[in-house]
Amino acid sequence: MFNVDDIRKDFPILSRKVNGKPLVYFDNAATSQTPQQVIDVIVDYYSNYNANIHRGVHSLSQEATDKYEHARQKIQKHFNAKHAHEIIFTSGTTHGINLVANGFSSLLKKGDEIIVSALEHHSNIVPWQMLCERTGATLKVIPMNQDGELIISDFDNLLSDNTKLVFVNHISNALGTINPIEHIIKQAHLYGAAVLIDGAQSCPHIKPDVQALDVDFYVASAHKMCGPTGQGMLYGKESWLKKLPPYQGGGEMIAEVTFEKTTYADLPHKFEAGTPNICGGIAFGAALDYMNSIGFDTIAQYENELLEYATQELLNIDELTIYGTSQQKTSVISFNLDGIHPYDVGTILDKLGIAVRTGHHCAQPIMDFYCIPGTVRASFAFYNTKAEIDALVAGVKKAKMMLA
Ligand code: PMP
Repeated sequence: MFNVDDIRKDFPILSRKVNGKPLVYFDNAATSQTPQQVIDVIVDYYSNYNANIHRGVHSLSQEATDKYEHARQKIQKHFNAKHAHEIIFTSGTTHGINLVANGFSSLLKKGDEIIVSALEHHSNIVPWQMLCERTGATLKVIPMNQDGELIISDFDNLLSDNTKLVFVNHISNALGTINPIEHIIKQAHLYGAAVLIDGAQSCPHIKPDVQALDVDFYVASAHKMCGPTGQGMLYGKESWLKKLPPYQGGGEMIAEVTFEKTTYADLPHKFEAGTPNICGGIAFGAALDYMNSIGFDTIAQYENELLEYATQELLNIDELTIYGTSQQKTSVISFNLDGIHPYDVGTILDKLGIAVRTGHHCAQPIMDFYCIPGTVRASFAFYNTKAEIDALVAGVKKAKMMLA
């Protein structure tokens, strides 16, 4: 049985105060908090078996290697990848996207087209613009509507035999919209285009099945799903990962090095140059164990209740606009008070111990679409409560009184 009071006991940070007030942490879409179970794994690594992996014959190195590779298997199982070597450890979503964008440098030419959506984080825009600069390929954009949804009929019309790659997020970080990725993947494949899904915001709420989706690449960050920062994963279909050239050169990613010619290691090591974030990978596995022990259906159901409650309560405040009103959304609410800068609202909420994000959320094209400088974004996780939402609503009313 899901009991939020019990869950909250797992997160030491939730009992601290900020500015003399109990912390209300509503910046989960930026970074989630870390349960004791994951903190213990990190402490255990540095206390008991910190060593470099894949190299030493000594016992500590072996132990660290086994735990690291076991974490890879946990990630494989979680995402239902066919092979463990289709999981590449990265430093996060941004790294995964850049790795793929770099790999496509040798596969694209002038006249080729690649498709992005209007709802993207800058990390799923800029690496592709850089790819276009290198190759002469053209970037096309799936437009959005006022509700913050993609206009899918326009996507269908953008596809052609020139389309080589489509990359969209599963869930928008700025608005919380869940995009119809099943349709996008199917349609793109009709034209032989590969699809990369940015799962940074979906993985904290949904358990994606990469084989059922038939997706070519799927990327995620551990720090948004109860794991550490500086750690993420790229799933790639074996056939694609074999086709793409390595991203970085260095130790670990080679088979043989001479000054005349270097050959590369097999997957996954071909894409993992240098000493990785060993502890981070192991802790990522522990974070997945933790979230799975609660269950993603349970998490989604509870977060939906929080979303509905918060939406109703915030909409009771006059002159408050919510951006992103799709029926298909997760527990993210982006809003503004008429005529008041989001930064000012965020500053007052912080004084009350309430952590929200303010600004453009690394999604400036979305802000441009709504002709606003930014929003206040409250994003909820399964360890938040309705009482915390009441505190947010009271804080927003107070901010309105002080600033209007
Ligand atoms: N894509 C989306 C949708 C995100 O929300 C984020 C993080 N805000 C990223 C990409 C980048 O993730 P990271 O900073 O962990 O690489």
